[in-house]
Amino acid sequence: MHIMANRLDLGFQRYQDEYESKLLEVLRSGWYVLGKEVTAFEEEFADYLGVKHCVGLASGLDALWIAFRILGIGAGDEVIVQANTYIASVMGITINGAVPVFAEPDICFNLDVEHLEEKITSRTKAILAVHLYGQASNMEPIMKIAKKYHLKVVEDCAQSHGAVFSNRKTGTFGDIGCFSFYPSKNLGAFGDGGAIVTNNDTIAEDVRIFRNYGSEKKYFNRVVGANSRLDEIQAAFLRVKLKHLEELQEERKTICEKYLREIHNDRIILPQTLAGASHVWHQFVILCKERQKLIAYLNSKQIETAIHYPIPPHMSEAYQYLGIQKGSLPVTEMYAERVLSIPVYNGMKEEEQDYVIACLNLFS
Ligand SMILES: *Cc1c(COP(=O)(O)O)cnc(C)c1O
Repeated sequence: MHIMANRLDLGFQRYQDEYESKLLEVLRSGWYVLGKEVTAFEEEFADYLGVKHCVGLASGLDALWIAFRILGIGAGDEVIVQANTYIASVMGITINGAVPVFAEPDICFNLDVEHLEEKITSRTKAILAVHLYGQASNMEPIMKIAKKYHLKVVEDCAQSHGAVFSNRKTGTFGDIGCFSFYPSKNLGAFGDGGAIVTNNDTIAEDVRIFRNYGSEKKYFNRVVGANSRLDEIQAAFLRVKLKHLEELQEERKTICEKYLREIHNDRIILPQTLAGASHVWHQFVILCKERQKLIAYLNSKQIETAIHYPIPPHMSEAYQYLGIQKGSLPVTEMYAERVLSIPVYNGMKEEEQDYVIACLNLFS
């Protein structure tokens, strides 16, 4: 049995007829940018999350940097972010000239709230909470600390569509929630896409103008903006997928709960979920001290895996200018050496899951 780390073709095949007829509908409509599909998706996704506004953008990275731009966070300002995130979270900060201040993650791979306050200085303007791997961050203490120090909160929900903390969906706690619809995300399109969500009318209006060259009305440009519009065809696909999202999430949950019940191996640490938080299982991430050996063993069994992420942002070449030494974020660096994502995808057969479990249980 050959098992790939991820498969997107099966997700397409399941609703193939709906995707194909939607595609033709948009192609035949004669309207391809900022039309009725984008507007309808924005309304449906905002309703789904329980938030007032959603503004579709071209990518998750655009959502992040535009969020900080609109909040007025730039040169000289500091933003606290967890150090084990995907590098795009950090780029969202640095594109604006702001400085990322890296905080360590907890045992659930999200911001460790115990050590969050230590990172606050007179220059701190915001906290970027990343709901990593699909699990909601510990939002209650994060919001409390933000309020105490008058900080903005931006949520990176690129991996957490639909995840909840205390019955409230991620993206609805902070000033702005940022989403990606990159194809491999739980709510993924068939190309790039992103969105900002907010309960704040002014922020929503500012983002709406910013994404379209800063133009309020055709040829009247209020600010120097960007071209970052969610594509009409991608919005149409996302509307189809959103209708089925509950079912898709349930399937991922069933697979991951089976992994949690049936994987037993002293050499492997299974993922933990925080009380009060839900997990939508964008990734099922295990920890293994002998990761290289485990990867080679699984490869010999034709099971592919992935590492999210092998090089933490502070150690990547792009961020050497920050001058952060190796060893300064020990938990993050330990995770980078030990994390391994095992296959989870919609359409994964039960015998494939059983095979992955059996192989992991025999690793020695
Ligand atoms: C995917 C991802 C992004 C970037 O989204 P794009 O749509 O690929 O630009 C940002 N943050 C996190 C945590 C991600 O997983």
